[in-house]
Amino acid sequence: WKHAPGHFRTLLENSRFQGEKVFLVYEDERITYEEHYRRAATLARRLVDDYGVAKGDRVAIAMRNYPEWVVSFSAVLAAGAIAVPLNAWWTAQELAYGVSDSGAKVLIADGERAERLADTGVPMIVTRGAGRGRPWDEVMGEVRADVTLPEVELSPEDPATIFYTSGTTGLPKGALGSHRNLGQAPMTVAYSLVRAVVLAGKDPSGVSGERRVTLLTVPLFHVTGCFAALMGTMFTGGGLVLMYKWDPELALRLIEREQITGMTGVPTNAWQLLSHPDVGKYDLSSLSGISYGGAPAPPKLMERITAELPGRAPSNGYGMTETTALAINNSGADYARRPDSIGLPSAVVDVRVSDPTGAPVPVGEIGELCLRGPNVILGYWNKPAATAETFVDGWLHTGDLARVDDEGFVYIVDRAKDMVIRGGENVYCAEVEAALFEHPSVDDVAVIGVPHDELGEQVGAVVRLSGPATAEELTTFLKERIAGFKVPSHYWFREAELPRNPGGKILKTRLRQEVLAL
Ligand code: ATP
Ligand code: MG
Repeated sequence: WKHAPGHFRTLLENSRFQGEKVFLVYEDERITYEEHYRRAATLARRLVDDYGVAKGDRVAIAMRNYPEWVVSFSAVLAAGAIAVPLNAWWTAQELAYGVSDSGAKVLIADGERAERLADTGVPMIVTRGAGRGRPWDEVMGEVRADVTLPEVELSPEDPATIFYTSGTTGLPKGALGSHRNLGQAPMTVAYSLVRAVVLAGKDPSGVSGERRVTLLTVPLFHVTGCFAALMGTMFTGGGLVLMYKWDPELALRLIEREQITGMTGVPTNAWQLLSHPDVGKYDLSSLSGISYGGAPAPPKLMERITAELPGRAPSNGYGMTETTALAINNSGADYARRPDSIGLPSAVVDVRVSDPTGAPVPVGEIGELCLRGPNVILGYWNKPAATAETFVDGWLHTGDLARVDDEGFVYIVDRAKDMVIRGGENVYCAEVEAALFEHPSVDDVAVIGVPHDELGEQVGAVVRLSGPATAEELTTFLKERIAGFKVPSHYWFREAELPRNPGGKILKTRLRQEVLAL
């Protein structure tokens, strides 16, 4: 290993210069950059010496957002192995799929996950609870100040991570990312941060001097949490405040207590924070930005943040597991002018909107969003057919329908698989959802296709209300905003929250089954 910017070990070594600054906060625990380095290096040595982990081996991490998640991730990469974060929400069966699909040599789990992983037979290290395997503290032994990283020869093109996609459109796929993919992620985040500051009319040279404390509102096992929030924090020497799970009330308390400067998560987090009845009771003056991404953000969200929390710049980031988090970003004055856009491509990304043959469509027309750049992963782990279908001639086919305006701003129209085709007319669920969010009584909504003999599909909406409204009122409201054929003909009102995966995306397949079986 030599100093190479596209390399995790460089990021880790650089972060050590932050010394006694606090890196991770979890409840009452505080871990400095120096402590994190020592623990990561110690665990890396144990993985190599005790478990025979070598370059290219996979080590799975199955935990909630504990500090040990971060230490494990750093240790695995520093040892030259491939980190495989598993979804902590997964059942025993789903976790077993992740373990066998990745061919993990060692598992590092918290007590709850360890129980679900009991039958896999793979050696396991267990923290925060007991389970089959060796306790974390025993494995770590003494954490010494003079610990060094194990020797390993690595190049930036070597694989570093396997993150599973959210499984919104099918079985989760393992996205194989390189050290270079990881290395560019914090630079991409920093680039968009500087742009946001410039757009806000402020001096960007102060950005790195200010201490940034980020509240992480999403799981570390998805790319937004790991690459945008965690790697972005490590790169700039800021603090990262972890939550066991998302809770808007706790988030408000933490913003006040930890003097949080920015929040990184999914649009639902920001929406629920604004809607919390006690939002006015907390001191949120430290907060300067609210960023979200990973799922469609209704334009109303930007407007609400601007009106209800003035001075807290909203920022909408588009990214995928396959793009190592952030790829396209909208913030500041850009976002205020175009609240329905995901913004401009990051500095490293090429954008193309293609027709089904792969040829670019004219400006303003809808086609499939395709991306190219050093943030695009190497391919899917173990899935040559899906890899060949998705990565064509160097371009990642995102499966999202989009258009680009004459200034280069990108608009996500819908997921190709989410579109409802009503009597031959395309209805983009995301557009209907955004229109429904405009209604003051609508708290959450999912638009789905409802089978229909004559039209093929009709438009249906599952709505959670926060105030009074009827199907007739919503219909009248929508008719003033969108074409008649897009207006839902079926409504289901629910009191319960809509089912979402930990990435904040509505589980439409499950929701469709639930409501259509009614
Ligand atoms: P799977 O690929 O397993 O079906 P998934 O696509 O939901 O799941 P992710 O990689 O977590 O898995 O999510 C990427 C997708 O999320 C994008 O393809 C896009 O549809 C959506 N998305 C991400 N960011 C945004 C955004 N800012 N606005 C709209 N949609 C977004
Ligand atoms: Mg996807």
